[in-house]
Amino acid sequence: MSKSLQAIRGMNDILPEQTPLWRYFEGTVARLLDNYGYKQIRMPIVEFTELFKRSIGEVTDIVEKEMYTFEDRNGDSLTLRPEGTAACVRAVLEHGLTGAGQPQKLWYIGPMFRHERPQKGRYRQFHQIGLEVFNIDGPDIDAELIVLTWRLWGLLGIRDAVKLELNSLGTSESRGRYKVALVEYLSAHLDKLDEDSQRRLKTNPLRVLDTKNADTQAVLINAPKMADYLDDESRIHFEGLKARLEAAGIPFVINTKLVRGLDYYSKTVFEWVTDKLGAQGTVCAGGRYDGLVEQMGGKPTTGVGFAMGIERLILLLETLEQVPEEIARQVDVYLCAFGEAAELAALALSEKVRDQLPNLRLQVNAGAGSFKSQFKKADKSGALYALILGEDELAQQVIGFKPLRGQGEQQNIAFDALAAHLATCVVQG
Ligand code: ATP
Ligand code: MG
Repeated sequence: MSKSLQAIRGMNDILPEQTPLWRYFEGTVARLLDNYGYKQIRMPIVEFTELFKRSIGEVTDIVEKEMYTFEDRNGDSLTLRPEGTAACVRAVLEHGLTGAGQPQKLWYIGPMFRHERPQKGRYRQFHQIGLEVFNIDGPDIDAELIVLTWRLWGLLGIRDAVKLELNSLGTSESRGRYKVALVEYLSAHLDKLDEDSQRRLKTNPLRVLDTKNADTQAVLINAPKMADYLDDESRIHFEGLKARLEAAGIPFVINTKLVRGLDYYSKTVFEWVTDKLGAQGTVCAGGRYDGLVEQMGGKPTTGVGFAMGIERLILLLETLEQVPEEIARQVDVYLCAFGEAAELAALALSEKVRDQLPNLRLQVNAGAGSFKSQFKKADKSGALYALILGEDELAQQVIGFKPLRGQGEQQNIAFDALAAHLATCVVQG
């Protein structure tokens, strides 16, 4: 195939055999978030470039080198969204959703775009489910975000494979004092820092803590710790969060090097990590961003949120073989009809059955075919039962009902009794 007809590197098709697992995952999350009182918001995929520069920060990896930015026909600079928080805050401000200090508990789902090096668990178009909460200040809501993800891991059967890492970045005042101390310490060891860290020391010193370079990591061992610079407000908040996680029985570890890639975090930051996916181990990450809304032109409004990477969680479900068997079966009943008259009767009958059983997954054979070929398709569809309508059955106004997976004998069912019969043998979702 010529190159122009291939998908863009790092941007994947999600094929029919994969979509049942995606829908199971997305459905599980959506139900859970409904139950916790979160409301869905849907934002555009493209925004003004300025939005991401202002919110994520000019000197972050995302803005410096990962964004898909282009000029549209008006000459405006637009960007495919690399994450959801910026657009969510923009929408909240634009529509006054947090006016007069009104709390909001929102969630979104959709594709995000970052020009990174594609590899397992890292793509250029990937999908996130994100939550953002506005105007709730206390550690109770930070805890709720973590508690509900813990419940999600339980529902998905992956609790044993994920670990919660937690840190506090303090208020901007305490973080400011910490930055001064960190820069002073690191500047005294400048020659031992890798090139990236030397650059970050000037632009975004906290990110040096995030380095993968072994020499820089060695320097960091004796570096000042954020925990020693937390002011009372941040400390009380952090203690409150930890107490709630302990009360809920959720294990966590404190990781003092956890700073997150975006500029806007304050106080709580957290990541759920797994060691089952190699280098791309963070499946869900977030934190508090009390200064962001104001920084984007709104009234002071506290915020806290997270985003989970759907591809990584799907990979984890597959790796751990936590894929429920029943999600693969997409057909309950397959109807075979032979000859024009039977096909006409089958169409009328199947529509009547659908009226009575709106959740029945009934596939009617299309494209005619011999008994053998239709029956093969019925079997391949994964259906539990085949319905068979030929000339003989039609003459008697009955339809053959044949279990395909060894559950009982074949029998004839009167047209009028078909829906009632199917209702007794097919569990309807
Ligand atoms: P990483 O450190 O892995 O690059 P990040 O800190 O850039 O992640 P966030 O911006 O916090 O990631 O996004 C939240 C989640 O979205 C991540 O924890 C991850 O699960 C997922 N994610 C981020 N970037 C990608 C990507 N390029 N491909 C697939 N999933 C991703
Ligand atoms: Mg990244």
